[in-house]
Amino acid sequence: MHDTTVRTTMRLERFVRDWLEGAVHRDRRPLEVASWTVGGEPVPFAEAARATYEPHAIGAPWGRPWDTVWFRVTGEVPPEWRPGSAPAGTRAELVVDLGFTGAGPGFQAEGTAWTTDGRIIKAVEPRNQHVPLAPGVALGADGTVDLFVEAAANPDVPNGAWTRPTPMGAWDTAGDAPIYSLRTMHVALVDETVAELLADVRTLSGMVRVLPPASPRGAQVLRALEDMLDVVDPDDIAGTAAAGRAALADALAAPATPSAHRVHAVGHAHIDSAWLWPTRETVRKCARTFSNVLSLMDEDPDVRFACSSAQQYAWVQEHYPELFERIRERVREGRFVPVGGMWVESDTNLPGSEALARQLVAGKRYFIDELGVEPREVWLPDSFGYTAAMPQLARLAGSENFLTQKISWNDTNTMPHHTFWWEGIDGSRVFTHFPPVDTYNSDLSAEELERAERQYAEKGRANTSLAPFGYGDGGGGPTREMVAQARRTADLEGSPRVELSDSQSFFDAARAEYAAPPTWVGEMYLEYHRGTYTSQARTKRGNRRSEHLLREAELWATTAAVRCGTPYPAERLQRIWRTVLLQQFHDILPGSSIAWVHREAERNYAEVARELEEIVATSLRALVGDGDATVAVNSAPFARDGVTGVGARVLDGPRRGTTVAPVPAATGPSDGWVLENDVVRVVVDASGHVVSAVDRATGREAVLPGARANLLQLHRDIPNEWEAWDIDEHHRRTTTDLDAAAKVEVVDGPAGPALRVLREFGSSRVEQDLELPTDGRALRITTRVDWHERQKLLKLAFPLDVRAERATSEIQFGHVHRPTHVNTSWDHARFETVAHRWVHVAEPGFGVAVTNDSTYGHDITATRVDDGRDGRDSATGTTVRLSLLRAPMFPDPDADQGEHELRCELVVGAGIDDAIRHGYALNLPERVVTGERGVEPLVTVDDDAVVVEAVKLAEDGSGDVVLRLYESRGGRARARVALGFAHGDVEVTDLLERPVGAAERDGDDVVVDLTGFQVLTLRVRR
Ligand SMILES: [Zn+2]
Repeated sequence: MHDTTVRTTMRLERFVRDWLEGAVHRDRRPLEVASWTVGGEPVPFAEAARATYEPHAIGAPWGRPWDTVWFRVTGEVPPEWRPGSAPAGTRAELVVDLGFTGAGPGFQAEGTAWTTDGRIIKAVEPRNQHVPLAPGVALGADGTVDLFVEAAANPDVPNGAWTRPTPMGAWDTAGDAPIYSLRTMHVALVDETVAELLADVRTLSGMVRVLPPASPRGAQVLRALEDMLDVVDPDDIAGTAAAGRAALADALAAPATPSAHRVHAVGHAHIDSAWLWPTRETVRKCARTFSNVLSLMDEDPDVRFACSSAQQYAWVQEHYPELFERIRERVREGRFVPVGGMWVESDTNLPGSEALARQLVAGKRYFIDELGVEPREVWLPDSFGYTAAMPQLARLAGSENFLTQKISWNDTNTMPHHTFWWEGIDGSRVFTHFPPVDTYNSDLSAEELERAERQYAEKGRANTSLAPFGYGDGGGGPTREMVAQARRTADLEGSPRVELSDSQSFFDAARAEYAAPPTWVGEMYLEYHRGTYTSQARTKRGNRRSEHLLREAELWATTAAVRCGTPYPAERLQRIWRTVLLQQFHDILPGSSIAWVHREAERNYAEVARELEEIVATSLRALVGDGDATVAVNSAPFARDGVTGVGARVLDGPRRGTTVAPVPAATGPSDGWVLENDVVRVVVDASGHVVSAVDRATGREAVLPGARANLLQLHRDIPNEWEAWDIDEHHRRTTTDLDAAAKVEVVDGPAGPALRVLREFGSSRVEQDLELPTDGRALRITTRVDWHERQKLLKLAFPLDVRAERATSEIQFGHVHRPTHVNTSWDHARFETVAHRWVHVAEPGFGVAVTNDSTYGHDITATRVDDGRDGRDSATGTTVRLSLLRAPMFPDPDADQGEHELRCELVVGAGIDDAIRHGYALNLPERVVTGERGVEPLVTVDDDAVVVEAVKLAEDGSGDVVLRLYESRGGRARARVALGFAHGDVEVTDLLERPVGAAERDGDDVVVDLTGFQVLTLRVRR
């Protein structure tokens, strides 16, 4: 036979495009349209319904960026199209085209259809433009149509260019000209047979694209499509569609091969809680997407929808209570399925220890309390890499499964597994799945199903994967066209077997078929988006500050409740926590959102700080009384400066003069300065760089010979694609050392003298204060930057005379080790890493820590220098660099411009224990208040390896005290926990404060036996 594959395929494409798609609607009738422009932020339905509407012609423009226009649509369905009268196999529906562009759903105009009595029917979006005209809902008894469409003029922010600066990210810069024109608003008569034929053709034509043309099955499908083309008459598609379907029937009836891959197709809509839109728009996106899902469920009882993020349910509950009740009903039926159990789909690299735990606590409590279900998986398809602390936290929150697919974005290495055990720093494991379809927005096309089957790495041992299907990022969700593909591929030769399913059913099936999955140990580093540790420094600082203020507020409010009976501000704390948890969403805290989102985050953090300071002040006032003695308050878990951890002490007098005076080096200030106490001796050269830092007890030098620490380095920072997201490796090859100091002088700082260094470069200036305490081993560096660079990366370097094969970085409830060399492609790709409050490098017997108060991005790299010692021609040390600031220009063109203040410390001669202690201390500065008495701590632990991470009252309002402890060094610890208040039973609980067993007691004390990095929650009855 002659090969006509190419010609037949071309013929098919033209037929579908020019005839078949248009024939789904047999006929159309116009409607009357009127509009009302809000001219500002969205309004509730009731306000829109009362407004005065003006006629709006099809084709007329509407909507300046971010504005809302309400359309009122009236008219009637022709009598011969109404239910009961319509020809067999037809139905009438409303079709809306708001002027949709080529951009995908969720990235442009979107609409919500409302009944006149304020019930949401469904959304209208590109590729999902219909509104069902159900009698009694959107169709009057007399055939009349009367409804509202709330149209959001959301701009297409990237508009095809993901690196170009855009003014679209805020109201005040986006312009005031309308950006859409209404294209369609009419009643159409749907020909169901033609719609089914179109779905048949989509399934089979997709298979032609993925099957080998030489395969018998590929040829069979192509011939069937050719037969269909012959029998369907373009001049009478309605009359010949059934014959067309008959021509395809055999090809669609051939069953799948026994070894076909099995796909659990789970309805889904990735809705970024903020990104290229503000959170207020996400509230509406949730309503639109969820109403789409409910509408689809009305059509197909087998569709199940996985929906994460308690925050998004809470928004709908608050703003759309009627819609929420309908969702709750479907949740009860097991069709609308809460997954994930977190407050939002947060970033996992950046949130602090307690905050990441609270993502799960707040999320799960919401799901249990409001929806009566507890998700058993963590669902994070899109977050930018996964902390090695996650397996333990998931397990402690009662979840045993984990889902993501983001690691498929790696730019260098391919993850070897799709289904595996993931083991965290403490040894906890979660059963983990990466959908091999490589997208969380699948449309279940033949190409995607083929990809899932081809890529699935567990072949031969297991054969099942999950495919989340539905439009996403900006929401949208599954469509009837996608469900039609699932139906046709349930058992079809040449395709994986597709089953409409849900997350739990998938995990049950995957566990059952896979007896011994492989294990991945430690963090899942995303080889991509490495700039998200640094972009939008003010958002990051706000997060770090909020997390530590929350610790302080809970600690002192609990202490005041126990000691003085002060009412515990539970509701207020819950509200603040929810704000902080929302800001940890995977496009907010990582710094990858539009200007609107980050300015709002900064305002939120300022308000959070104000409220938390108020709670701390009120609590401390109750605790220390009204005297005028100086009271030092220590919120950190360790004793310092004579004040016990989580306690307070009256001082003899005010604290002052706690830093040493810098003195000129031997020959005068032109040769630099010396800062020295009993522990360390630091030499700063005339340009403000640290050229020596000696541990006096051992004489050991911390700075690499000939190198300068506290060196600011400026890099060209122009990533190849995602501006705010990415730091590319090539930035390291364009480095400017900021050598020159405009001024170096001794100033009188709040704690005593400091050495101040001023540098000017480009359009920016940096002022640094270097301070050494009168005792202790940490040189503190406060860096104030007035930053006006663009596409630059500012790093602060510490070349250290420490030959460390690996570096240690703090993560949640512990730390990870990462190589400092680049032996393998995995090491090489890990050129920018995340750490929380400290990093540490060491040789046996000597180590150095660098702590910080708001920086997350680091690189720690083996460094070779030429001027070695002892006859060697070179030496290897380790350079620790903090990524202080970036200035990406998309999606926020002014990201990071302006003033910043960042602190870090160089801790000379530090073990891991010192690093941990200094990390807490820098982030929880001592408070000095006036009062009449100190505060005895509620809890003391006799082993510093066991850290008190949180002290709070129980979430259930019982008044029980909840303590969260963890082993911080990675080893075994048996510690005595003394409770400084009258108490009854002490139980060990999970993160949600549900008992799992009694604590071991020794008299009044509790004894805890912890393995490395184990997190333990104790619930203490008063
Ligand atoms: Zn996302």
